[in-house]
Amino acid sequence: MNMNADPNTTANAGMVFCRVCGRQIHESAANCPGCGARQLLAGESEKLVLPAFLLCIFFGYLGAHRYYAGKIGTGILMLVTAGGLGVWVLIDLIMILSGSFTDIEGRRLKRWV
Ligand SMILES: [Zn+2]
Repeated sequence: MNMNADPNTTANAGMVFCRVCGRQIHESAANCPGCGARQLLAGESEKLVLPAFLLCIFFGYLGAHRYYAGKIGTGILMLVTAGGLGVWVLIDLIMILSGSFTDIEGRRLKRWV
């Protein structure tokens, strides 16, 4: 047994913990066998597309969708540039719709609801 192992990492390769009930499940499982909760895929954000989409549509010039994704810095930058005079907001909107928009940790927003 490796005593230097980080206790927060899973002991078994390819196993992760359900983000709802904490049960150990395989990383490829789409749903938890225990509680049925849908699991995040690798590189998938827990943030949802729909709120980001609505925030971008209505408050995109304020950078609201970027605050939602945790991107406070670029959100403020978007606020003071009025969404890059609308161009930046439009680009973000396309990114959100295409599933390419990422949160602060670089994970893509894939789920709508
Ligand atoms: Zn579960």
